[in-house]
Amino acid sequence: MVKSGFVCFVFMVFVLGTLAAQDQRGAEKSHQVILKYLGTAGWEISDGTTSILIDPYLSRINGPAPPGGGSGHSLAGDTRRAYGWGDVASPDVAAIDSHIQRADCVLVTHTHYDHILDVPYIALKTGAVVIGTESTENVMRAYSVPEGQLTTVRGGEDYEFGSFSLKVIPSIHSPLDHKHYFSSATAPAGMKAPLTLEQIHPEGGTLAYLIRFHGHQILVFGGMNYIEREIVGLEPDVALIGAGASRKEIYDYSGRLMRDLHYPALVLPTHWDNFLAPYGASQQPALDALQSFLQEIAAASPKTKVIVPKYFEAIPLETLPK
Ligand SMILES: [Zn+2]
Repeated sequence: MVKSGFVCFVFMVFVLGTLAAQDQRGAEKSHQVILKYLGTAGWEISDGTTSILIDPYLSRINGPAPPGGGSGHSLAGDTRRAYGWGDVASPDVAAIDSHIQRADCVLVTHTHYDHILDVPYIALKTGAVVIGTESTENVMRAYSVPEGQLTTVRGGEDYEFGSFSLKVIPSIHSPLDHKHYFSSATAPAGMKAPLTLEQIHPEGGTLAYLIRFHGHQILVFGGMNYIEREIVGLEPDVALIGAGASRKEIYDYSGRLMRDLHYPALVLPTHWDNFLAPYGASQQPALDALQSFLQEIAAASPKTKVIVPKYFEAIPLETLPK
């Protein structure tokens, strides 16, 4: 009796010890936030359980260039089909399926094709909630994404989602074409798929997002501009900052950002690659052009670490104490 009681006790200690160890491993796993660059302004932010996508655009079609070039230039010798504004382009389902297995939430910064073309397919495939402007949601509606998956925002919202929270920040579009770009257009309700590139490119206003996730505050921009009063006082430890050439149209772009955001520990440049080139093509010209951005950040915030992301390569964030 005494002996079996002792055995039972030892067994229980063993079981509890094993459970505790598993629990700890599980906790460590779920607190590790990993970022992956999908190209253009696209990112995946995940802890292995919850997956948040930002402007996921994997199709990288040979589409029309933004006004003044922006961060996209047709590649010389590109033999893929060249799409015009009046054309319908289908998402590259193979590229999406090989990299996006699941998503809980898709954040869209604005309704331009290099941000939204793949979002209806991803939403329908994963059941993810799409957070974006009314313009963005009208594009989703055209593709019959269920109403329950659409959370329409205008900037100013601060929403709780359980494992993360999300502050929606009013923003403005990159100053393309030497400050001549302007669009007040919005995608209207009542459109029917398939939509032409022109129909999925009305901008519809631009948003930025602050994601609070496992103690991190990750500030996400979808392009090269911001409204200073909307970001002053934010203290993200990670900032995804638009680093395309049009930022040079803006007064002290990187300096004001670094000061306003109180010198974030980590900066990841976004929307700096040539999104009209396929994944396999050389991004050397874009990488060369990015050097001046790295210098700007180093000058404005010497302690900030900058990582130039490689497509689909995991960037693990430091695990923070609870
Ligand atoms: Zn845009």
